[in-house]
Amino acid sequence: MSIQIVKTIREVQDIAERFRCGGKLLAVVPTMGYLHRGHARLIEIARSRADVVITTIFVNPTQFAPNEDFNRYPRDLEHDKTIAQDAGSDFIFFPDVAEMYPKEFNSHVEVERASKILEGAFRPIHFRGVTTVVAKLFHITKPHIAVFGQKDAQQAFIVQKMAKDLNFDIDIIIAPIVREEDGLALSSRNIYLSETERKNALVLYRSLQHASQRIRDGMKKVADLRVEMEKIIKSGNPSQIDYIAIVNPEIFKEVEIIESPEVLVALAVRFGTTRLIDNIRIQLE
Ligand code: AMP
Repeated sequence: MSIQIVKTIREVQDIAERFRCGGKLLAVVPTMGYLHRGHARLIEIARSRADVVITTIFVNPTQFAPNEDFNRYPRDLEHDKTIAQDAGSDFIFFPDVAEMYPKEFNSHVEVERASKILEGAFRPIHFRGVTTVVAKLFHITKPHIAVFGQKDAQQAFIVQKMAKDLNFDIDIIIAPIVREEDGLALSSRNIYLSETERKNALVLYRSLQHASQRIRDGMKKVADLRVEMEKIIKSGNPSQIDYIAIVNPEIFKEVEIIESPEVLVALAVRFGTTRLIDNIRIQLE
């Protein structure tokens, strides 16, 4: 059966209700479209765990600041249909902005603290937009399972926190980062990179691998590690390093001394006008 595109909330809620009543397990994979192998992996994981998979494609305006790339964010539904179908999705929920945010819309979901640091420090309204739209998508698609990517580690933490704090009865699964062969994390935004920027951006994964090695070798002081990572990243001629952070992933708090059994090294770096994020999780015990 070919994949079905559904545009209205009412229709998706009815479909979800029907499957739920029939005892089926539902999974949702929220995306902003322009799908790549990273998204496909999420859909495959959903497929392996559920009877029905709904992929959502919505470039969510409330998570973009006015100076960000909402308008130029890449969009290609035909291409997305093929990728989502091949990966095993049954439905694509593809609403327009007015369907998701009618004129009188006036409610928001916010996870405090964790949404203010790292990405949140540079994108102050971002996570409020993300948690609001994800909460809506959960109520719309009524899933038992939702799959997100470790690529957006802070988002993954915040969505899990929201689900826990607000008692969403949904199993949140976090899928590992899918990378190009040369190490660049797949992202819809990679299309913005010039050929030179694309090559230079390889310093990100290189710096993360370096951090992983240094931490495993016993390096404890984040300030020292940051200097070394900066040096590697600067060799790729970035236009700006927004942050390099070491985080205790259990509580999503930055650390200055590495002590916890697991750490997350996360960064955001701009090449030209393109802002890329990446991270690595390092298990110490
Ligand atoms: P986006 O369309 O960029 O909002 O991403 C939708 C979902 O796909 C999010 O949960 C992302 O974390 C996940 N994702 C994006 N890129 C990757 C990747 N390279 N590997 C794994 N998951 C990814």
